Amino acid sequence: DAGDACVKFTIMHTNDNHGRFWENSDGEYGMAARKALIDSIRTEVRQNGGETLLLSGGDINTGIPESDLQDAEPDFVGMNAIGYNAMAVGNHEFDNALTVVEKQREWANFPMLSANIYKTENDTLVRYFDPYKVFTIGSLRIAVVGLTTEDTETIGNPQFIGDLTFTKPTDEIKKVISEIKANDEADLIFAVTHMGHYADAAFGSNAPGDVSMARELPEGDLAAIIGGHSQVAVCMESGTNTYANFKAGDACTPDQQNGTYIMQARDWGKFVGRADFEYFNGKLNLASYKLIPVNLKEEDSNGNLVTIGNALTPNITLRDTLKVFQDKIQPTLEKEIANISEKLEGDRKVVRNQQTNLGHFIAAAQKSSLDDVDFAILNSGGVRASIKPGVVKVRNAYIVQPFNNSVNKVTMTGSDIARYLGSVATIKVGSGGYAQIINVNMSVNCDKPTEPAIINSIGGETFSPTEKYSFTIPSFSVAGGDKYPNLRADDNNFQDAEIFVGKLDVDVLRQFLESESAKDSENGIIDLSPFEPNIEDITY
Ligand code: ATP
Ligand code: ZN
Repeated sequence: DAGDACVKFTIMHTNDNHGRFWENSDGEYGMAARKALIDSIRTEVRQNGGETLLLSGGDINTGIPESDLQDAEPDFVGMNAIGYNAMAVGNHEFDNALTVVEKQREWANFPMLSANIYKTENDTLVRYFDPYKVFTIGSLRIAVVGLTTEDTETIGNPQFIGDLTFTKPTDEIKKVISEIKANDEADLIFAVTHMGHYADAAFGSNAPGDVSMARELPEGDLAAIIGGHSQVAVCMESGTNTYANFKAGDACTPDQQNGTYIMQARDWGKFVGRADFEYFNGKLNLASYKLIPVNLKEEDSNGNLVTIGNALTPNITLRDTLKVFQDKIQPTLEKEIANISEKLEGDRKVVRNQQTNLGHFIAAAQKSSLDDVDFAILNSGGVRASIKPGVVKVRNAYIVQPFNNSVNKVTMTGSDIARYLGSVATIKVGSGGYAQIINVNMSVNCDKPTEPAIINSIGGETFSPTEKYSFTIPSFSVAGGDKYPNLRADDNNFQDAEIFVGKLDVDVLRQFLESESAKDSENGIIDLSPFEPNIEDITY
C-alpha cells in the first residue's frame, strides 16, 4: 500500500508516431530530439524526488516509406532507446501481417498492451496481447491498461485481422478493473488507449472513444487516459467540453470527465505530453500539465523559421543509430522514374468525394498489370497522397500506396457484376470506401444499395448479364475492407467469383509510372489525358 507518504510521479506520453522516427526537412520532431527532451525531464523529476513513466498511444506503423519498408524497425529501436514503458496497440499495427506484429513485439523492450483484442486458439478466444502491466513507482503501484478502437475490425486490413476479435473497450476495462481490484494489484489505474478523443463524446461515425469510456465508468475507477487515434491536442477551454484553440507553445488544460483525466499529444511525436502528479492520502492531484513541442518551428516577422520553445539538440547516439536506417533506403526511394506536368490528385478530401486522375491512373495501372481485365475498382481511401507536378520518384509510389496490398483479378458473370457494383458503387461518398472506377458506364441507386447497378457498357461494349467479366481490385477490398462484399468468405453472395492474386500494388504503380513515362522518349512526360475522369460514366 502507498501509505501516507506523498508520491510524486510524472507521466510522459506521445501517440500516432506513424513512422516519424526521423525529423522532417525543417528539423522538426524526430526521435533523437524526443529522447533529448525526455532524458532531461527524467533527470529533473528524479532530482526532485519523483519518478517517471513514458507511454505511447499507439499507431507506430505506416506513414513514411523509410519506416514502412523496414517494418517500423527504426521506430521500435528508437522507442527502446528513449525508454518507453508501454504502448497501446493501434489499428495501424495491423497494416502488416501478424508475423510482422510478432516481430515488432520481439523488438520492443516494453509491452504492447491491449485488453480487447482476442485470437481464436483451439476454438477458444484468448487475449492476443497483455491487457495491462503494473508499475511500481516508489511505494505506489500503478496499473496501466491498454485498449484499441473496436473500429479496427472494420478499418483494419481484413487479410491480416481475420483471426482476431475486437471487443468493446468499455466492457473490457470494467472486467480488467474488477480483476485488478479483486487481487489488490494496484493503488491507481491508468489506461493507455488508441480509441480517439472526441470532445463531449461526439464520436460521430467512429466507435466511442476515451470520453465515452470515462463517462461510463464509476467515478474514481480510472485516474487518467493517455490516448491516441484522433490525433488531436487534447487541450480544453477550462471547465468546458470544447477544445481550446491550442497552438504549439500554448498552455494546455487536459480534458477531465467524471474524474478521469484524458490526454493526447496530437501526432508524429511533435509534442511530448508531461503530466506531473502527486499522490497523497489516497488522493491523486495533477500538479501541472504541458504539451511540449519537439523542435516545432514557426515563421517570425521576417519570414525566418524559428523554434517554438527550447531548441533541443538531438541525442547524438540515437541520431547515429537511426541515420543508418534512414540512409540505407535513400538510393531506392530517390530514384527518378517519371515526369508529370499536372498534379495527380489524391488529397483525401477530393479523392474520397469524386473521380480523380490519380484514382483512375492507379486503377488503370492495376488493370494493365493482369491479362484480360475489363474494368477496375479502387477504394479511394487506399490512395494516401497526391503527386505534385514535376519529377516523380519511387518515393512517391510508396507514399501513395503504403499498404502492401496485392492487385486481385476477380471474374464473375455479368448479372453478379451488376449486383456487386450496385453495392460497391453506392458506398458513402466521402468515406474511404468510395470507389474509383474505370471502364464502366452505369447508373446506381444510392438509396437502394441492394439493387443491382444498371450497366450500359463495359470497356465501351454493350453489357451482357450472361457474359463473364473480369476486374482488378486491391486485396483489401476483396477481403471485405470498407464493408465491400467479402469475396473470400465462405458464405458470400458471389459464390461463382474466381479470384486471382497478382502483384503488389506499389510495384504495379511504380512500373506503370515508368512505362507511361517511357512513351515520351524525349522528356519522359506522362500524357495524363487518358486518365481524366469522364463524369458521365457513373450516374448516381
Ligand atoms: P488513423 O491513422 O487515425 O487510424 P485511418 O488511416 O484508420 O486513421 P483514414 O485515414 O480515414 O483512417 O483511412 C481509412 C481508409 O483507409 C479506409 O476506409 C480504407 O479505404 C483505407 N485503408 C485502410 N487500410 C487499408 C489497407 N490496408 N489497404 C487499403 N486501404 C486501406
Ligand atoms: Zn489510429
